[in-house]
Amino acid sequence: MPAVIRCQDLVQSVADALQFISYYHPADYIRALGRAYEREQSPAAKDAIAQILTNSRLCAEGHRPICQDTGIVNVFLKVGMDVRFEGFAGALADAVNEGVRRAYNHPDNKLRASVLEDPQFARRNTKDNTPAVVNVELVPGDKVAVDVAAKGGGSEAKAKFAMLNPSDSVVEWVLKTVPTMGAGWCPPGMLGIGIGGTAEKAMVMAKEALMEPIDMAELKARGPKDQYEELRIELYDKVNALGIGAQGLGGLSTVLDVKIASYPTHAANKPIAMIPNCAATRHAHFVLDGSGPAEFEAPSIDDWPKVTWSPSKDARRVDLDRRRHQRHLAATSSICSHSRRARSTAASKECNLTPKASAASWCRGSRSLSSDSMSGVMKPGSSAATAAATTDATGVRLKPSRIAGRRTSITSAIRSISCW
Ligand code: SF4
Repeated sequence: MPAVIRCQDLVQSVADALQFISYYHPADYIRALGRAYEREQSPAAKDAIAQILTNSRLCAEGHRPICQDTGIVNVFLKVGMDVRFEGFAGALADAVNEGVRRAYNHPDNKLRASVLEDPQFARRNTKDNTPAVVNVELVPGDKVAVDVAAKGGGSEAKAKFAMLNPSDSVVEWVLKTVPTMGAGWCPPGMLGIGIGGTAEKAMVMAKEALMEPIDMAELKARGPKDQYEELRIELYDKVNALGIGAQGLGGLSTVLDVKIASYPTHAANKPIAMIPNCAATRHAHFVLDGSGPAEFEAPSIDDWPKVTWSPSKDARRVDLDRRRHQRHLAATSSICSHSRRARSTAASKECNLTPKASAASWCRGSRSLSSDSMSGVMKPGSSAATAAATTDATGVRLKPSRIAGRRTSITSAIRSISCW
């Protein structure tokens, strides 16, 4: 008797997963970040990590997004070949998108819609964050395993790919490439690396590698089992030795883990892809076996380290109303706020974002000054980057006009089609 996967179970599970990850960091990320806080020597980077941890705990308590950029949804489905689908009026991706729609328009925690329907011309917001980027793989078995992630635009903007010569060094390429990413991917986070296959296979592997839990401390404690684990450790140590640090402020922890996925490749090629994940690491995993929608267990607040950020006595209080004019002037400058801070890091030499903006620069809007951060009061949703701006009062950015106005609309737009 094949397992019956009902449409409504997939829709509800995706919606619940996206709400869950919008306000709960994964426990492995919090543990790793707590360790990074303990060992950090740089006061600025330590302060930034304290902000991320404090923001994270507040968001978990208040069920509010851990970052203003609530991401684009990435879904990996591993579909058992013995399952039977029931109640689907359209494709599997349509059901996933209905889950996305419900999650991002949830009346209790509306999430910012970031997806534009046409990337080249109209660039019009779809208003419900659909569509997700959906990857489906058929595998043996009678279950459907699902990875759901909400990937930040800033970290996605720093994705890299190269077709190396077979004799080229992966380590050299990574160490040469990471500094070109600046701090616009909001470290500390992870690097997902895909080696082999073809160009597109390497990119997908790099992204999927980011779905794995952070376990670098455990890996180092038990020792590597194979050459890929040795490579993970080498990259982790050498990338952190670059000194980029939390939010690019210079420090010991730029990455909390490095994940590598590999696949056989053509003898003439060595494709490599690298995709960073940011401080707003958000992913959840569930399995549907026909018994109903997935359930997500809320973490205990005790899982968060006892770290509470408070503003430096040197922080300046800024009247944002008086800064509007300056904000306009800053937006017309050719140097973005991020590049100004990046100058202080050894690794960040330039900012290629222009004020008018790509999705990336808009994501980087988290670095604009908010009343929360400038008054020294952190509220859920003040990203680490926002908080880091407290002592960098010159950084101001514009948001693309097409996105504006989304936050004020608190209407629920759950549609009624087929099973949903
Ligand atoms: S932490 Fe940075 S890259 Fe990540 S979602 Fe927030 S603004 Fe975007």
